Amino acid sequence: MKLRPLSRRTTLATAVVCSALVGGGVAYAATAEPAIKTFTPRSADQVTNIDVLRQQIRNYYGDPLGTGTFAPDGNYAKEAASVAKAGQRWLDGRHHEDSDRSRDRDREHGHGHGSTGRKAIVLDVDDTTLTTWNYEIASNWAYNPTTNAEYVNGQKFPATPGMVAMVDRAAKEGYAIFFLTGRPSSQEAATLGNLTSDGVGVDAGYPAPTTLPNGEDGLFTKPDVSAYPDYLQKACAADPGGKCTTIHYKSATRAHIESLGYDIVANFGDQYSDLKGGYADRTFKVPNPNYYLP
Ligand SMILES: [Mg+2]
Repeated sequence: MKLRPLSRRTTLATAVVCSALVGGGVAYAATAEPAIKTFTPRSADQVTNIDVLRQQIRNYYGDPLGTGTFAPDGNYAKEAASVAKAGQRWLDGRHHEDSDRSRDRDREHGHGHGSTGRKAIVLDVDDTTLTTWNYEIASNWAYNPTTNAEYVNGQKFPATPGMVAMVDRAAKEGYAIFFLTGRPSSQEAATLGNLTSDGVGVDAGYPAPTTLPNGEDGLFTKPDVSAYPDYLQKACAADPGGKCTTIHYKSATRAHIESLGYDIVANFGDQYSDLKGGYADRTFKVPNPNYYLP
């Protein structure tokens, strides 16, 4: 029997708890629970055999033989594109509502500036704007930071279906475009290159992220704890080792963006941890059956 590694995120969460124990028995470690809350099967018949499940996922991606290339007309591509379309309808609506309102205001008062800030969208990267299917196949769904970095730094990920058109249109409607990823800061340049067009590896063709009024670029990668800006230090002070959980990192960054004068109209992510914690008028869940990030 082959032993298979746990999913990447479960492994990481366990590692954090273990190191906390080794580091001196932090109180929360005693009550550590798995990140994934689910039922306990009474019978093996209540769960899908993991090899069968892998085949179902390959079928879903329109890649039954597991070549690492998903089909543009497969069910994954269709479902991702339908989320992008739903996002586009929402953004179109908010854009038009705004123009109507400012036209009415123009008529009444002779001016037309809204006061709620510039409209913006926030997008996660992995499996929200770039699809990592090729890496899931190459790694047999066993995340490893070293092999993953080869794909990231090689800029090997294609765009998630439907998303480039949606983001392009949002940018043309005047939305500020922000990317918010748990990838480390060391991968920022490669991430930007893969997302936009730098002639290296895959160029997904997204519009460049919007530079903020304070000069920050609009691609937020996760810094080392020692380099946290104030807003992360504050928001994550009670997290283990002061290191932000995904939810705290992402929601505090969205709060930071809004504090600089933006209204985040839509937030797109493939993980619930991308979407929880507020600071977005609406959230959009992009499909991803491959892994779970607490
Ligand atoms: Mg993601």
